[in-house]
Amino acid sequence: MTSTTPDVTQTELAAALVIVARIAQARAMQATGDPNATVHLDRRVCLQAAAGMPPAARFDRHAWMKAWQAAREDGSLPHRKALYRQLSRTLADELDFDGDSWEGEHRQAEIYRIASRLRTVDTKVCIDDTLGPLDAKVDPHNLWNGFVSPRFTLDAALQLAAQTQQLAEEFNGDGVDTVHVIDCGAKDHDGKPLAFVLRVSWTYMEDEGAEQSTLIIEPDDEGRYSIGGWEWCWSYAHWNCVCGRYSDWHERCWCGLTRDHQPTAPLEIARWTAAAALRRLAPSATSALIDIHEGRPHIVQVYAGDTELDTADDGGVFDTETLGAADAYLHHAIDSSEPADLAAAPGWEHIPDERSANVYRITFPTL
Ligand SMILES: [Zn+2]
Repeated sequence: MTSTTPDVTQTELAAALVIVARIAQARAMQATGDPNATVHLDRRVCLQAAAGMPPAARFDRHAWMKAWQAAREDGSLPHRKALYRQLSRTLADELDFDGDSWEGEHRQAEIYRIASRLRTVDTKVCIDDTLGPLDAKVDPHNLWNGFVSPRFTLDAALQLAAQTQQLAEEFNGDGVDTVHVIDCGAKDHDGKPLAFVLRVSWTYMEDEGAEQSTLIIEPDDEGRYSIGGWEWCWSYAHWNCVCGRYSDWHERCWCGLTRDHQPTAPLEIARWTAAAALRRLAPSATSALIDIHEGRPHIVQVYAGDTELDTADDGGVFDTETLGAADAYLHHAIDSSEPADLAAAPGWEHIPDERSANVYRITFPTL
């Protein structure tokens, strides 16, 4: 897989590749009327995409020079040059070609495929509660009515096969698609399993016969099987964060926590959940001062850096419900911990105060 230079992100590179693919499409339409026809591409398509120009079929040298000059003036030229170099390198690395240059005859689909690979995320997918969750690679931009098109390893395809067959048993096969892995046990000369996937749509079997109601799914060049893409209602599986929200499997939670780094200590969980509750209304909040009276914590002040945020019940930054919710998270955490632990917990600090012996500053995690 192509790596990017520090200043060109995968997302940017993928977006520029989509422009190149659209140029190929426009050229193919103009020449033959078929958007998928093979057309000649050279490095000028990279210049066109890197300059942020529209995907017109013809390279307009005059317009390109104007765009390049504008980039020089607004300071974006070094970045656009880096994008151009990265685009050319990516096409040279990823396209199939004869001879010593990628410049030549290509189809838009080849370019789209490279863009799609760059955007791909490793995630888990499911269909409601019936199928999955299963590990898969997904291009988040390739959506069908909002559903995703996952690509599975052979192992994941085997799990999916077992799930569909069990589903068919439960519904007596009626209206169910089943998946079957046909694996001869040997490997091909690249070391990949000699196996394919068969999908059977039993709904059509009676009227249309086996040939019409079965689909052979071969592995792609990464050894992945695309099962149910653009047909089945695949969605991302979710994970639940300690802060109470859920996110798509591969996404970081809004509160800043990731799935792999979920706190387990009650006081640490409370620090995140209280911070998330307050930051919903005051994203700049960095710490809070709490006073614990007879075991019940109460937020007395919220800070953004050194600045006090207005916590007045009426007209302040926060509403009563938000402050009450944050108080409740802290109360629950303190209840589940030894009192002596408070100042020792990460982000909790005892603050000397003449009116109360139980004032603490909670510093929120940095995002
Ligand atoms: Zn969270």
